[in-house]
Amino acid sequence: MSPPLRLVAPYLLLAACIAGIYALQPAPVVAPAPEVVEALPPPTPTFTFPVSMALCPTLNVANAPPSDASLHIIGYTALIEVNAAVMLARAPVEQACVSSGFGARNGQTHTGIDYYNLEPVGIYAAGDGIVREAVTRADFGNMLVIDHGHGVFTRYAHLDNFDGMEVGGAVLSGQVIGVMGNTAATTIPRHLHYEILTGDWGELAGSFALTPIDPLAFMGQN
Ligand SMILES: [Zn+2]
Repeated sequence: MSPPLRLVAPYLLLAACIAGIYALQPAPVVAPAPEVVEALPPPTPTFTFPVSMALCPTLNVANAPPSDASLHIIGYTALIEVNAAVMLARAPVEQACVSSGFGARNGQTHTGIDYYNLEPVGIYAAGDGIVREAVTRADFGNMLVIDHGHGVFTRYAHLDNFDGMEVGGAVLSGQVIGVMGNTAATTIPRHLHYEILTGDWGELAGSFALTPIDPLAFMGQN
């Protein structure tokens, strides 16, 4: 025997209200998963240093290393080992030809290699290292010096720019560090003046206290 409706009605009403309240509730908000911010991987150099190098065909190249009939440097290798510890690019440039070698020139010593290109091609760190100098000078224009450790350094001069490069910043071998330019107080053709240096970096003289070596020396070593 069922109870009289008047006794049950309030409970039915209450049940209906509760059901209504639940029905009106918005769908539960799913809290977003906490955003996982992963550290960016270090830049991955994809650049491969030139595996052959030629003398510039239309220029009179001072101190030119031996070359074959097509002006390609005999025995050229992409890398040179310095101080038995550091592997460096002989030509840390996207594309170029040798316009001047290392040695006596015009009564002075040309302390590096000049790599020439008509176009503003990319310049790359010759090896892993730390930027030690990033300055604009009257003689070398926009100039970077990278410290590769083990008393080994590289200099890159006349850069069109070296945007993003700061003293103390780390660079990886093959990383873009600038653009070939013709910056200096005097008018010069666009080229990279590139030096490999060894010794102790001096607080006063900086990279100019170092001893330059010929980046195109020791052919056939590697
Ligand atoms: Zn030079």
